[in-house]
Amino acid sequence: MEAAADLAGGLLGRRFHCTCGQEHHVPTDTVELQEDAAVRLARYVKELAGGGKVLVAGDSTTMTLGATVRTELRRSRVPYEGVVMNRPGRGFLKATLASADTLALRLTEGFAAAVAVGSGTVNDLVKFACTRARLPYVVFATAPSMNGYPSGIAALEVHGIKRTMEATPPRGIFADPRILAAAPRDLLRAGFGDAISKPVSGADWRMATWLRGGSFCPFALDLVRQAEAEYLAHAQAIGRGEAAGVAALTRALILSGVSMVVAGSSSPASGGEHLISHYWDLRSALAGRAPRLHGLQVGVATVVTATLYEEVLGLDSIDVTGCLGRYRDTEAREPEIRSRYGRLADETLAEVRAKQVPRDRKLSELERMRVNWPQWRSGLRAMVVPARQVREALAAAGCPTRAEDLGVTGEELEDAILHAREIRGRYTVLDLADDLGLLEGFARRAAHGASL
Ligand SMILES: [Zn+2]
Ligand SMILES: [Zn+2]
Repeated sequence: MEAAADLAGGLLGRRFHCTCGQEHHVPTDTVELQEDAAVRLARYVKELAGGGKVLVAGDSTTMTLGATVRTELRRSRVPYEGVVMNRPGRGFLKATLASADTLALRLTEGFAAAVAVGSGTVNDLVKFACTRARLPYVVFATAPSMNGYPSGIAALEVHGIKRTMEATPPRGIFADPRILAAAPRDLLRAGFGDAISKPVSGADWRMATWLRGGSFCPFALDLVRQAEAEYLAHAQAIGRGEAAGVAALTRALILSGVSMVVAGSSSPASGGEHLISHYWDLRSALAGRAPRLHGLQVGVATVVTATLYEEVLGLDSIDVTGCLGRYRDTEAREPEIRSRYGRLADETLAEVRAKQVPRDRKLSELERMRVNWPQWRSGLRAMVVPARQVREALAAAGCPTRAEDLGVTGEELEDAILHAREIRGRYTVLDLADDLGLLEGFARRAAHGASL
């Protein structure tokens, strides 16, 4: 298995000046993807906790999968207490702010460090609890289901709605490829779906910074690119749970997480396709339904936004007058937004206002787009992967490729394409297509299974 330092090009634990002009810092100093990962974890944690007591937290499933962690801590004479965060038989553990706070309180009882044993939910809870308690933690990953292990954010539910909170990344990430490969197939496929979105989310980031400024780091995007060919070549093996493919996927996801730390935001890993997935989560929460797996939704949404890019990049020129004529400001949209989001109307309006610009600024944006379109268009074309290719790779891994495979109706797909851009202040291809007058027609055709 590949050594940790090679995985992120020797970046781990380093602070460095980048060609983009910024200084970057990756606080995670160790990534071990090896069969003896639990042994290495115990050794690392012994030093990290300096003889102090360690809290080992997971859910009933992951604590069983990662039982070797406790065995090795005992063997290394590291004092620890185990916490199972859900009650067996009472359903899945949920990443809520309330649970993270309960865990943070527990951490104040004389602990020196924590170990998260699990994947997305467990990692988010322990990461946020340790941030609150100002304690270091490491993660023993049990499934490559998402790219959040090394990231500086935790997704937690507050009053039933997922929120992205700032949090301190883990000091170390440890994983045994045999355990990862034995994870439920849907978790492996979810990891694949999350990874495959990156060329499209990266294009959104590039385009948004061309149009509106803000920091962009080509180095962060290259980090993700490094691992792409390898995991794509293993699509079928990943879907079948073969260790070599799953290790390639895990490397890609960890690099994607590191790219977010380097960028200082989720921009390299989260564009319009993530907004569509978050929008479906939000509609599920408002309707009292359980959310679907993040990565499975993101994979399908990536087919949608890659297709939308093909329409947008098909334009030879920008019709500034036509675009400005269709432009509606926030005041004009407020009544419909209020009725669509119910109890979430105020915060949604704040997000809409964050990216809406006055008409005179929109005019200068559109002018800049018209002048630069030939360069922007070829730059974006070089970044975005064709939708057909995304769909074929997803199918090879056994992932859903169409909204209906997820149980999303045509109407729900149309709704998400039209409105997902309202829930975050980030400018993506969904906004670009709306500015260019292409979004409504695209959403209508997508709803009827045409165009996708
Ligand atoms: Zn994601
Ligand atoms: Zn940089």
